Amino acid sequence: MSWDFNEIKCASKNVSDVLGSDNYRPEQTQCPICHTFLKRDHILWHKQVTFSTGVKKLVSWAYRCPRVTCPGSQDIFKSRQAETLHLKYRRFSRELVVRIGYQRFWRHQTMYEIHDWLTQDLHLVICAREVANLIIDFLALLSAAQPARIRDRLSRLPGLIISIDGMQPEKGNDCLYIVREIQCGVTLLAANLVDSSQEALCTQLFAPLKDLAQELGKPWHGVVSDAQETIRLAVAQSLNRVPHQACQSHCLRDAGKLTFEADRAMKKEIKTSFRQALPRLRKRIQALPNGDPFQPVLLDYTAALRSVLPEGGVAPFELGGLRVFEMLEDLESSAIRCQKKGITSCCAG
Ligand SMILES: [Zn+2]
Repeated sequence: MSWDFNEIKCASKNVSDVLGSDNYRPEQTQCPICHTFLKRDHILWHKQVTFSTGVKKLVSWAYRCPRVTCPGSQDIFKSRQAETLHLKYRRFSRELVVRIGYQRFWRHQTMYEIHDWLTQDLHLVICAREVANLIIDFLALLSAAQPARIRDRLSRLPGLIISIDGMQPEKGNDCLYIVREIQCGVTLLAANLVDSSQEALCTQLFAPLKDLAQELGKPWHGVVSDAQETIRLAVAQSLNRVPHQACQSHCLRDAGKLTFEADRAMKKEIKTSFRQALPRLRKRIQALPNGDPFQPVLLDYTAALRSVLPEGGVAPFELGGLRVFEMLEDLESSAIRCQKKGITSCCAG
């Protein structure tokens, strides 16, 4: 028998892959029929899964009853815990999908804000397009988890008020439309549309929505959306005479865009000037003679300065630059007070 070098290399790589991973075995240890201890049979699946803490290799092992004469010897046993960690055919963990859904629908972050959070705060490798896919996955998980409860909540409403929002990761690409019932916060529909024309919206969004309203026996009470022209025309065509209001959040975001951009530019300027000066300042303080009573206080001030700088903002009202500016002013007046009182009382406070 001859050995192929590549085959050996490949086999040893597989073994080391398995050894360096999180291995999962079934929670059940005995055969339910003959009570013999189950034996490891083969790898059911193995893959790299991205969690909010980083990428992990997961291996799920299939176990079987080793007694050939047992009627249950063909049954496969697997880990339930491993199944709850991932979604089939996906490389992102359920935990991460749920966290993304939370940022989108409970904290009302845009797809780009979520993308910044994933790449800058969690240091994950992911493109904006993928964030849209994960939001769809979240909605699928959500609707699979509570169909009966959703129907019950909708059936208690006097009428439906919906919000429509479209998210497009890149111009010219598919657009993800999400329709929610505002009064009970339930997502009614999520659709990925290649075409965002009035006709497409009428047939692919509003036709199924009208069917749903008919099925529930509920009248339409209102629609809220941004000012996208095709949505306005499609609402007028499909839901004739139903009140349609422009979303205040979108209007305020648009109105505050210039202020927010100016604030961001100011924050960047402040950060750059401080980032250059801080290391020099710290070096000078550290060079003070040993036992200098001012040294620990001044070092505390530089630490406070450093912690103020990463403060961020959320459009349209939370202006990060202004907040950094105010915090720096507070630090300045504190330092001046400290200088006036003298080091003894400052240390006591
Ligand atoms: Zn058995």
